[in-house]
Amino acid sequence: MAGVAFEGVSKVYNKQVRAVDNLNLQIADGEFLVLVGPSGCGKTTALRMIAGLEEITDGQIRIGDRVVNDVAPKDRDIAMVFQNYALYPHMNVYENIAFGVKIRELKSWWWQLSHAGEAKRVRVSIDERVKEVARMLGIEGLLERRPGQLSGGQRQRVALARAIVRKPKVFLMDEPLSNLDAKLRIQTRAELVRLHRSLGVTTVYVTHDQVEAMTMGQRVAIMNDGLLQQCDEPQVVYERPANMFVASFIGSPPINFLEGTVEAGSLNCGAIKLAVKADGLQAGQKVMVGVRPESIYETTGDGFEGVVDVLEHLGHEFVAYLNVGDKQLVATLENTTSLQAGSKARFAIKADRVLLFDPESGLAIR
Ligand code: ATP
Repeated sequence: MAGVAFEGVSKVYNKQVRAVDNLNLQIADGEFLVLVGPSGCGKTTALRMIAGLEEITDGQIRIGDRVVNDVAPKDRDIAMVFQNYALYPHMNVYENIAFGVKIRELKSWWWQLSHAGEAKRVRVSIDERVKEVARMLGIEGLLERRPGQLSGGQRQRVALARAIVRKPKVFLMDEPLSNLDAKLRIQTRAELVRLHRSLGVTTVYVTHDQVEAMTMGQRVAIMNDGLLQQCDEPQVVYERPANMFVASFIGSPPINFLEGTVEAGSLNCGAIKLAVKADGLQAGQKVMVGVRPESIYETTGDGFEGVVDVLEHLGHEFVAYLNVGDKQLVATLENTTSLQAGSKARFAIKADRVLLFDPESGLAIR
């Protein structure tokens, strides 16, 4: 197995589009890293450069110790799973899975999972390998079927099996779950995490879905406009986003931003005053205050008045869109609330949970 390193990597298409800009990112051996960002941010391009499907304009990529800039895709020892899984329609599931294994690997080391989910190395034939992988993915009953006789979820498993059976050093996955319905996506998400835990193969996973990123990644790398914004553990990017882009991209419903001015011992955000210690900030300084929806709560004490505009029932909680003066805030409220659309109530913000940003640069102040 091997880690992957981007060292000052850029990709410019047609001398115009800077799809990836000076990317520096070390992915550890055995890590599950998620590359996430909005459409067009460069995440697929970054993944395709690891695969060797896109030439690198500047910088270098290493897989393990080897610089792979000039190594052909087939010699990089990677396996890729895409959104449209491209199975061979004329082959059955068994043949589709076995197709990727090289003849010289006919009898070679392979993982086998114990009942406890631990992977051990054993020497097996391709046939044993195909069957073991099919068992891991719960498709052993489908080996005789052709792709046309499978559901979308089953086809995606076959595509995964075909990648796994090659026993690559690195898995590259580009939105592999996006064709699945919501329930199957959540289920397969957990299976992929489990599979990674047992096989321990370095995995780079691309998605535009921040929930997928947060639930699957050991670390999450957030990109925007070709630039890496932050790469850290899910909890860290949520609680300590490096800038306003990361703060707004990660989290659902999204974070609220309020313009504020620093005063002695508080932040003045118009109708809302926050008792935030202004250590290191100057009186009169303008800040952007980030308030997560779960930091807003109903209160009978001090606070500010809000009118519920829309209330969404999610079962375990409510999402409330509040009109506060001329601002709109989104809050997640406990499902015990008696509020309704049109209700007027008092709300408060957990001052110790707010995030502060520089309004000019967008960078986190603390
Ligand atoms: P999506 O989630 O929509 O797939 P992405 O984050 O994966 O987006 P990329 O596909 O990497 O983004 O594209 C990054 C930028 O590079 C975009 O502006 C895109 O239009 C551009 N781009 C991608 N491929 C090419 C190409 N072959 N020729 C020219 N420009 C390209």
